[in-house]
Amino acid sequence: MKRELICIVCPRGCAMTVEGEKDNLTVVGNACPKGKQYAIDECTHPTRTVTSIVRVANRVDTMTSVKTEAPIPKEHIFDLLEKIRAIRVEAPVEAGTVVLPDVYGTNVVITKNVK
Ligand code: SF4
Repeated sequence: MKRELICIVCPRGCAMTVEGEKDNLTVVGNACPKGKQYAIDECTHPTRTVTSIVRVANRVDTMTSVKTEAPIPKEHIFDLLEKIRAIRVEAPVEAGTVVLPDVYGTNVVITKNVK
């Protein structure tokens, strides 16, 4: 396997090449160890922080934003978005409020206050 990646851990955006098999990967192009770890994770078990929006039930045409507190496995993103789509919150609601607990190893929380 050979894969080209841009590191997204910091703004420098190092261009990296990953070669080898799952348990024996070689990474070149990274300027620091964080990039190497990112590349290995991306090739073995990619994860993403998921952001979305939810409806505020008692405010006409009002939405607020949510995100996962930690990255989740990439293969679960669409399942999670379906669960988020069903959520309705009631104003007032504050950033940090858990709206979907313990899902794929993390919580989904509000990121924008609604008064
Ligand atoms: S490899 Fe290191 S320096 Fe390069 S983008 Fe990733 S985190 Fe930044």
